[in-house]
Amino acid sequence: MKYLSVGLILCAGALAAAAEIPERIDAHAHILQPDPAYYRYLEKANIRVLNICVVDKHDKGFEQAEPQMAVAARISRETRGRVAWCATFDDTDWESPAFTGRVVKSLGQAFADGAVAVKIYKDIGMELRSSSGAYAMPDNPAFGPVLDFIAAQGKTLFAHLAEPWAAWRPLDPASPHYSYYKENPEWHMFLHPDRPAKETILAARDRMLKRHPKLRVVGCHLGSLETSVDDMARVLDAYPNFAIDTAARIPDLMLQPREKVRSFLIRYQDRVLYGTDLEMLPGNDPAKALRHTQEEYARDWTYLAQGLALPEPVLRKIFRENALTWVPGLRTHAKD
Ligand SMILES: [Zn+2]
Repeated sequence: MKYLSVGLILCAGALAAAAEIPERIDAHAHILQPDPAYYRYLEKANIRVLNICVVDKHDKGFEQAEPQMAVAARISRETRGRVAWCATFDDTDWESPAFTGRVVKSLGQAFADGAVAVKIYKDIGMELRSSSGAYAMPDNPAFGPVLDFIAAQGKTLFAHLAEPWAAWRPLDPASPHYSYYKENPEWHMFLHPDRPAKETILAARDRMLKRHPKLRVVGCHLGSLETSVDDMARVLDAYPNFAIDTAARIPDLMLQPREKVRSFLIRYQDRVLYGTDLEMLPGNDPAKALRHTQEEYARDWTYLAQGLALPEPVLRKIFRENALTWVPGLRTHAKD
C-alpha cells in the first residue's frame, strides 16, 4: 500500500478475460493478519498468494522474523495452503561465528513447517554494517553457506536488494515512489550520501547470482531495475537462475513506452512473476485492506490483459505458471 494507484477502470471485458485463467498467483504479498473474509475472497476469486516474511527494523510489525513466520504458517494452515509462505531470517548477528548454524536451523524448521522460499532484504547493502564499519553486501562470503543451504533444500530465494532509483534522488512528487520516501526517510538514500551507491549494491547482487548458479533467485520489485526494461533484460540474459517479480512496480512499467514493455514481457515471458506487495496487517481496517486488494488486482489485470493486450499464454505464465516453475513448493497446493 505504499504506491499510488493509477486510476484505471475495470471493465467487463477484463472480468471475462480473467475467468480464462484458471487460477492466479500473487507471488509477493505481506499477510500478517488472519482474516476469514480475506480467505473467502481469495477462494472465490481463485487467487493464491505467496506470503513473504521480511525483517525491517523500521516497519511496525516486521521487526522480527520468528513471530511473522509463526503467523504465516498459521495462515497457510487455515487456508489449506492457498496462502503459502516465504521464510526469512534476522541478519543482525551476521558476523557472529554462530550465525550460519542459527539461521540454517531456523530455516530448516521453517521448511518443515511448509515454507517454500526465503526472503533477503535491502538492509543488506544499504544498512547492515560490519564491526569495522563497512556495509555488508549480498555477495559477502558470510551469507554463502545460508544461500547454499537454501539451494540444497530446493527452495527459492526472494531478493529485495537495493531500491528504486528514486531512493538516491531528491523527492519528486511525480515519482510513483514519492510517498514511500517521504514517509520513510531512513530508506531515502539521497539523505544518506555515506551509504553505498545503487550500482555497487546491484553489482554485488549480480556476483551473488553468478556464484550460486543452482540457487533460483526472484529479484523482487523488477529486480530494482524498475525504470528500464532494457536493464532488466540485460540481467535476465546474464543470469539464467534469475527471474523478477512485479511487486509494487506496475506503475513503473506504466511509465515506459507501451510497445517496449509489451515486447519485453513477451520475450521474457518465462522470467516474470506477478506480485503486488499488498499488505494485510494487524491494526489496519480489514475491510479497507480487502477493498484495496481487489482494486489493485483489477488495475493490474486491466493493464496487462487490456492495456498491453498480452497474449493469453503469456498472461497465464505471468499470473500463474512462472510462480509454479520458480517456486516449485507452490506446486504442492496448486490445482491443475
Ligand atoms: Zn514486499
